[in-house]
Amino acid sequence: MLLCIAGLHGNEPSGNHALARLLKRCEAGGVTIRGDVVALTGNLAALAARVRFIDEDLNRSWQIDRVLTVLESLREGGDGAPMVGSAELKEQRELIAAIREVIGRARGPVHVLDLHTTSAESAPFTTLGDTLQNRSMARALPIPAVLGLEEQIEGAMLQYFDLLGWAGIGIEAGQHDAATSIDAHADVVWALMEYLELIEHPSTIDVAARRARLISATDGLPEVVDVRYRHPVAPEDEFRMDAGFPNFVFVRKGQRLAEDRNGPIAAPMDGLLFLPLYQEQGDDGFFIVRAVRPMWLSVSRWLRQRGVDRFATWIPGVIRHPERHDAVVLARWATNRSVLGILHLLGFNALHDGDRTVMIRRVESAAEGSPLDLRE
Ligand SMILES: [Zn+2]
Repeated sequence: MLLCIAGLHGNEPSGNHALARLLKRCEAGGVTIRGDVVALTGNLAALAARVRFIDEDLNRSWQIDRVLTVLESLREGGDGAPMVGSAELKEQRELIAAIREVIGRARGPVHVLDLHTTSAESAPFTTLGDTLQNRSMARALPIPAVLGLEEQIEGAMLQYFDLLGWAGIGIEAGQHDAATSIDAHADVVWALMEYLELIEHPSTIDVAARRARLISATDGLPEVVDVRYRHPVAPEDEFRMDAGFPNFVFVRKGQRLAEDRNGPIAAPMDGLLFLPLYQEQGDDGFFIVRAVRPMWLSVSRWLRQRGVDRFATWIPGVIRHPERHDAVVLARWATNRSVLGILHLLGFNALHDGDRTVMIRRVESAAEGSPLDLRE
């Protein structure tokens, strides 16, 4: 099953337009779908108001405790009783109820596509938690895959699905209101449908032409990049990005990028500038990413398939977590790039827990009957 979820952010209607267009195309004939393709909309109230969110960010609201509370209310209240709380809590409850209903009918493994757009002008790219199955899904698309972004945020929907062992990636198709973003969203959905063998052959859909359009939109960009730096921003900083930086432009160490009330802000390293902030809301000024060499991806796949992560505590400065068997804690002196890099290769994901760095081993498949499961 390909489960597409669009409009978690209400100021990003592109995914909805693309999915509506795609469903219409399927109804027009000439294409037969075998298997399940489902399209859901996230934040209906925010989409109607054309804002990112009403009370709180629906893509930062998937903490385990919160989802368990929603599941509890669905079991008790059926569909009738609305939950008291924010506008987004109501949206989340409806969305989870819809997801439960559709996955109950799924005939194969669930693959999720979460459709987004960016404030800056951008070529399309995917974001993912770095599990092997998410990588396979992202590499099925001829556009850059960004690793490590999800470590910088907390409570994203796909992070919860990762816990369930579902495959899922996010697609950022381009600038919020660009017509090319709708095209890129549609192209990605068709390309994934083909990858998952959901399109019966022959069909009148020219997936090769759609892949070619994605290739030309991302010409010259690396296949996989890794987030190396984040510039955090607080409202009192009066952060202002210098005008005219597109996403993925190369910058040199020392080059001026922005300014705030303390003066100019320069790039701390060479790399590709990523997600420069050109909207009012947001607490990431910009990121710097660098290309990951394909060899490292092969090395990490090899290590993970052989369970080398079990020996993580052999690395100096990496200590067993006192309570969790799937996690390790880093000694303060060990929180440098090389130790983090090795743990990333082994499939661990950083979580900043107070003043200590905890690294959690990602799951590739969830335990049967997990209380986190959304199935009824
Ligand atoms: Zn978004």
